[in-house]
Amino acid sequence: MTAPMDRQGIEKLIDGMTLKEKVGQLTMLSGELVQTGPASAPVTSAAIQNGEVGSLLNLVGPERIRDAQRHAVEGSRLRIPLFFSLDVLYGLRTMFPIPLGESSAFDPTLWETTARVAAEECAVEGIDLTFAPMIDIARDPRWGRTLEGPGEDPLVGQRIARAKVRGYQTADLASPTAIVATAKHFAGYGAVLAGREYASVDMSERLLHEVYLPPFKAAVEAGVACIMPAFVDLNGTPMSIHVPLLRGLVRERWGFEGVIVSDWSSIAELLLHGVAAKPEAAALALNAGVDIDMMGKGAYVDGLPEALDRGLITMARIDEAVRRILLLKLKLGLFDDPYRRCGSPEAVAAIGAQPARRALAREAARKSIVLLTHSGDTLPLKNSLSSIAIVGPFGEIVGGSSEPAADERVAELVDRLKTAFPKAAISVATGSHVEQPDDSGLEAARREAGQSDAILLCLGERVDMAGEASSRAHPDVPQPQQELARAMLDTGRPVIVLLFSGRPLILPDWLAAGAKAILACWHPGSEGAGAIADVLSGAHNPSGRLSMSWPADVGQIPIFYAERPTGRPRLETEHFSSKYLDIPNEPRFTFGHGLSYTTFLLTNPRATRWTITAGEATEILVDVKNTGAMAGEHTVFLFIRDVVSSITRPQLELKDFTKVALAPGDMNTVRFTLSSDQLRFLGADLEPLLEPGLFDVFVGPSADPAQLQMLELRVNPPPSVA
Ligand code: BGC
Repeated sequence: MTAPMDRQGIEKLIDGMTLKEKVGQLTMLSGELVQTGPASAPVTSAAIQNGEVGSLLNLVGPERIRDAQRHAVEGSRLRIPLFFSLDVLYGLRTMFPIPLGESSAFDPTLWETTARVAAEECAVEGIDLTFAPMIDIARDPRWGRTLEGPGEDPLVGQRIARAKVRGYQTADLASPTAIVATAKHFAGYGAVLAGREYASVDMSERLLHEVYLPPFKAAVEAGVACIMPAFVDLNGTPMSIHVPLLRGLVRERWGFEGVIVSDWSSIAELLLHGVAAKPEAAALALNAGVDIDMMGKGAYVDGLPEALDRGLITMARIDEAVRRILLLKLKLGLFDDPYRRCGSPEAVAAIGAQPARRALAREAARKSIVLLTHSGDTLPLKNSLSSIAIVGPFGEIVGGSSEPAADERVAELVDRLKTAFPKAAISVATGSHVEQPDDSGLEAARREAGQSDAILLCLGERVDMAGEASSRAHPDVPQPQQELARAMLDTGRPVIVLLFSGRPLILPDWLAAGAKAILACWHPGSEGAGAIADVLSGAHNPSGRLSMSWPADVGQIPIFYAERPTGRPRLETEHFSSKYLDIPNEPRFTFGHGLSYTTFLLTNPRATRWTITAGEATEILVDVKNTGAMAGEHTVFLFIRDVVSSITRPQLELKDFTKVALAPGDMNTVRFTLSSDQLRFLGADLEPLLEPGLFDVFVGPSADPAQLQMLELRVNPPPSVA
C-alpha cells in the first residue's frame, strides 16, 4: 500500500518530474462538452496519459469525468489526478437568478446558501472547481457581463465575494461537497472602454484601489483558493502579466497562496495586445505568477521550455507553479480519492428533483425581483380577477434555445398563475419577437389583451443578449417589443410590465409612465415562474433593491451613485453648472431603489456616541415602522460623507446595509456599528488614512439624497496626536 500523499510527497513528485510533465500540470484544456470560448480540438486520452495536461474544463458528468481521470491515475507515469472545472455562474441543475439579480436581494445568507447548493450539485457531477464568483464591479450597462456580477458598489461586491467563497468552498476543501471558488476577473474588467467587451481599461490607480480591488481582497481574506486575471489590458499592461498586481499585491501583500489560472487563451492573446509572442509571453505570465495556462494554444507548452533555455525563466519558477497546483489537488483530496466528486447515477438523478432546492430557487428568485414602479393599488393583483393576458415574447426570453424549451417555460408561468389566481382565465399571446421586426402577431395580442382584466407584458432581452461577448450600445427594450408595448398601453387595460434582463435597461418615458407597475425579474432561474406568481399575487411582498443604477438615457453612462462632488453642482438657473442641456443628471432608478406593497417610515436616526476617537466605534440607530397594511421586508442603507478631507471623497459611500422584516403597524430599531476604521479612505499614497473631523452619516432606503436622513459624527484625533 502506498503512503498517503502529503506536502513532502508533493516535493518528491516535483523532483521526479520531467519538464514536459511539469508544463503538463500548468496546462488546462477543454473537454469540449460546453462551449465557453473560441472552438478548439478536444483533449485526447493520449495527452492525459502522456502527462500533457493537469486539469480540464467544460467536461461534466461522473462517467465522463471518471473516464478522463482513469487515464490520468492509471495510465500516466506519475498517476497525478486531474482536476475538473466549470463555469457555474448561477447554478448547475437548480438554476438561481443571475448574479446581478441575486445581488438585488441584499442577503448574504441567501448568497452563501445558493453557492452551497451549486457546489453540492457540481460535486455530484464530478466538478472540483468553479470559475465563480465573478466580482467585477460594473457601472456601465452596455457591458454584457454586468449579468454575472455584483453591480456597482464595492461593499456589495465584498459581501458577495465572502458569501460565495464560503458557500462554494466551506471550511474544508477536502469535503466531497466542497469545490474551489475562483475570484474573477482580476481586475478592472468592468470598466472596459465604452462598455465594449474585451476592450482595454484605463483607470486611475485610486479608482482601481477604492472600487475594483476591494471585492478581490475580501475573497482572498475569505480563503479563496483560485484567482483568474482578466484578459484585458489595464493601463497599458495586460492583466495576465501584471507583476505589480499579481505578484506584488495579490501574492506578496495579500498573502494569496492559491492558484492563479489564466483566462481562456489570454497568454496566447498577448501577441494581439502587442506585448509579446511565445516564448516571451509565457515567461512574462509565469513570472507574474500565473500558474495555469487555460486553452493556451501552446503558449506554455511550447513557450516555457524555450523560455527556460533562453534564461527568461528559472526552473524554480516552474516548480513554484507546479507546487501550487499539486497542493490544490492535495487540498481537494484528489490524491486520496480522485473520484471523490463523482456521484452515483442515483445521486445525479436526484440533483434537480430535490424539493428543498426548488424551494430555495423560488425564494432566491422572489427576493431578487425588484418592484421598479407602481401606481395605484394594481398590485398585488386581486384574486377575483377573471382574466389575465400574458403578452410578449416571454418564451423566447426565458427559454430560447436552451433547456427547458421556451413553450415549457410559458406553460410553467401559466400553471403558476392558475394556482395563484384560480378564478382567472389565463391567455397567452406572443405579440412580437425579441429583436426581429415582425408585426404579424400584434393583432392577436391586441385581441387577447383588450378583453382581459390585466395584461402581464413580458419584455426584455434574451439571456444571450447579456453575458460574455454581449455588449449592447443601446441597452434598452428592443424596438419590436416597444411597438408591442405601445399597442398594449393603447388597449386601456392595466399593464404590468415584467422585465427580463441581464443588465439595467433604459426604458422610454411613456412606458415608465403608462405601465401600472414595472418589475425587474432579471433572468430568475428554474423557479422564476413560481416566484413571479408569488409576487403578483402578494404571497410575497417584493423586497429586492437595485445594486446598479438604471440610467434614464444612454448618454448618462457610466452612471453610479458614488460620484465625487464638483465645484459647480447642478443648478437649473445657472448655465455654468454641472448638467446636461438635454437630459436630467439623475438615473431613472438609483442604487438601492425598490418598492414594496407596504410603506415604511424611518424615524429618529441617532447615534450612541456623536463623537468618537480614532480606534473607537459608535452605533447608528434608526426606528423603522411598517406603516402600510401588508407584512414586508425593508432594506436600510448606511452611507457616509467625509465633509472635509485631503483627497476628495464621493458624495455618498455605502458602509453597511441590513434588512428588517415587519408586520403591519410594527416597529423595530435597526442598529449599525460604525467604527473609525470604516471612516478611513486611501490617502495620497493609497494607504488607508483616517482624518479626524466631521462626517455626515446617512440612513435611508436607497442612495436617493431626497430620501436620506443625516446625522453628524465627529472623529477626534487619537490622544497622543491631540
Ligand atoms: C471567460 C471566463 C470563463 C472562461 C472559461 C472565458 O471566456 O472570460 O469568465 O471562466 O472563459 O469558460
